[in-house]
Amino acid sequence: MIKTAYISIGSNLGDKLGNCTKAADLIDRIPCCKVMAKSDFYRTEPVEMESSEWFVNVVISLSVQLSAHDLLKSLLQIETALGRERGKICAPRTIDLDILIFGQDIIDERGLTVPHPLMHLRRFVLIPIAQLDPDLNHPVIGETMAELLEKVPENGQAVIPLRER
Ligand code: ADP
Ligand code: MG
Repeated sequence: MIKTAYISIGSNLGDKLGNCTKAADLIDRIPCCKVMAKSDFYRTEPVEMESSEWFVNVVISLSVQLSAHDLLKSLLQIETALGRERGKICAPRTIDLDILIFGQDIIDERGLTVPHPLMHLRRFVLIPIAQLDPDLNHPVIGETMAELLEKVPENGQAVIPLRER
């Protein structure tokens, strides 16, 4: 079955924009997976992290004919290929790829939770995903991306368009 998935791409180490662009290109090359749309790129203030380095973030939508588990496996391989090192939790990362939404599926397993459990609290996710599809329903909360975004305070969560693609 073909589904639409939304992936969050973020980097706060090295060539941040280049890392995000490369990741999107590699995701497009995963078999049975096609990038349909890309949000703008944003410079975003780190949330829940000691690190002072800002991120570059983007959200892409995918048309996928894979299971969510197989998609995650490919995303983790791309993280490794782009030099992601898994050190301390919250350490700066060359690339972070998270599955935000996978169709309207709800998955809560060890190693995979979809929708991503923190997405509705993060402006660096909600702004780009609402740009792609403001009416997209959050299958657990039952509200749209635009509605969720309205509820998150801006304080400490600056999200600034980069205006480059
Ligand atoms: P974080 O993104 O929370 O900073 P990591 O990128 O290091 O942390 O991810 C750690 C693990 O989170 C991954 O190995 C993966 O198994 C798990 N995980 C659970 N749900 C998801 C999801 N929706 N998208 C991506 N990874 C997920
Ligand atoms: Mg991650």
